[in-house]
Amino acid sequence: IRKQSIIEGQAEIRVSSDKVFYNPVQEFNRDLSIAVLSVFINDYRKEKAFKKCEKLKKEGIDFEDGHDIPVTILEALSATGLRSIRYAKEVSNVTKIIANDLSEQAVETIKDNIVYNSVDNVIETSHDDACMLMYKHKHHSKRFTAIDLDPYGCPSIFLDSAVQSVQDGGLLLVTATDMAVLAGNSPETCYVKYGGISLKTKCCHEMALRILLQSIEHHANRYSRFIEPILSISADFYIRVFVKIYSGAFHCKKTTSKLSMVYQCVGCDNLTLQPLGAFKPNPTEKNPDQMKSFLPNVPPVGEFCVHCNQRHHLGGPIWSAPIHNVDFVSRVLNHVEENSHKFGTAKRIQGILSMVQEELQDTPLYYILDKLFGRVHLETMPMLRMRSAILNAGYQVSFSHAAKLSIKTNAPAHFIWDIVRTW
Ligand code: SAM
Repeated sequence: IRKQSIIEGQAEIRVSSDKVFYNPVQEFNRDLSIAVLSVFINDYRKEKAFKKCEKLKKEGIDFEDGHDIPVTILEALSATGLRSIRYAKEVSNVTKIIANDLSEQAVETIKDNIVYNSVDNVIETSHDDACMLMYKHKHHSKRFTAIDLDPYGCPSIFLDSAVQSVQDGGLLLVTATDMAVLAGNSPETCYVKYGGISLKTKCCHEMALRILLQSIEHHANRYSRFIEPILSISADFYIRVFVKIYSGAFHCKKTTSKLSMVYQCVGCDNLTLQPLGAFKPNPTEKNPDQMKSFLPNVPPVGEFCVHCNQRHHLGGPIWSAPIHNVDFVSRVLNHVEENSHKFGTAKRIQGILSMVQEELQDTPLYYILDKLFGRVHLETMPMLRMRSAILNAGYQVSFSHAAKLSIKTNAPAHFIWDIVRTW
């Protein structure tokens, strides 16, 4: 069989391209994942070592640097093994990686490639259904530090097993490429797959991220676990989220406060969020960790739009809490800046992460400048002028990495329409 040789990062793999899946466009996805894992693993080891040695520290003894904390990664759908090989060669301090695939041909290719790249001491291959393999690792003694899910299309069938098989404080990395479903072309299918209704809206890329996050949280909650998104990216034809997974039945009660339904006006396209709950401290409890009331104390959005009196479409639920951890993102950005020669797509990562860092974190979704003015058949206002108008009125504004000409703002919708009217 004729084999093609591919060099990406520090890996060189050989594939017979007609039999095993390899997509060069995903180099950005792999580079970004390497950068995220590098920073995450460093944090993870420090955190675990810190916990282990907390007692010693109280006694004034320095805690360990975490070098003895094992780090295991599962690439559940590995295809050529390229991603696992790059993780083994380019992410420091990884103890063990399992590269799994259901296809026998793929597993043979992975085996050849790990020997060819001399990483057979770190990578083990596995020929199994990804779900079955993850269920075998759901006991906490067997869980992985990180699980990478990079399937064709929709990841939802893998989520139940994945959320159970990541260690406490571990990382789940998920790609979804079924953007048509997530971006509103097929809202019923989106509900079936993700448990959330997508809408055809200008901010569909961020909405897609938030539907996926909601779905992962929902799966995790079944097992008294919950997520903390640390980075959520929309790129090319796919989305990619990086979420930490924690255990804690009490914290799961806060989930409704992190979710919202989305009302979309069929007339002016305006979006209104309806939170599912509001985390309200119980005034009788002194310890905030013991707060017991979670009142869905939010007035419902009406049937008609307050701006143009047209009907609403209903979408969601979506994740309406922050989708990135800015401190983490800035450390990933530093890592890529310091190691830019190692990443083929360093410039692109730097560009996107710089935008992510600037995004308003507490303001879900966004307007698109030309669509906003196009809706009322007006010429588009220059972006700078729009942003100045918002800032001058004392509100905040940012772009979103997910769309050009995006306007993320905490200004109320009626104020945005006032600006449009005065143009
Ligand atoms: N992660 C790879 C990369 O970065 O190059 C690409 C993975 S490719 C999109 C998806 C792979 O999942 C295919 O090789 C396919 O054989 C495998 N696959 C599909 N269903 C599976 C299942 N249930 N369990 C394990 N592997 C599966």
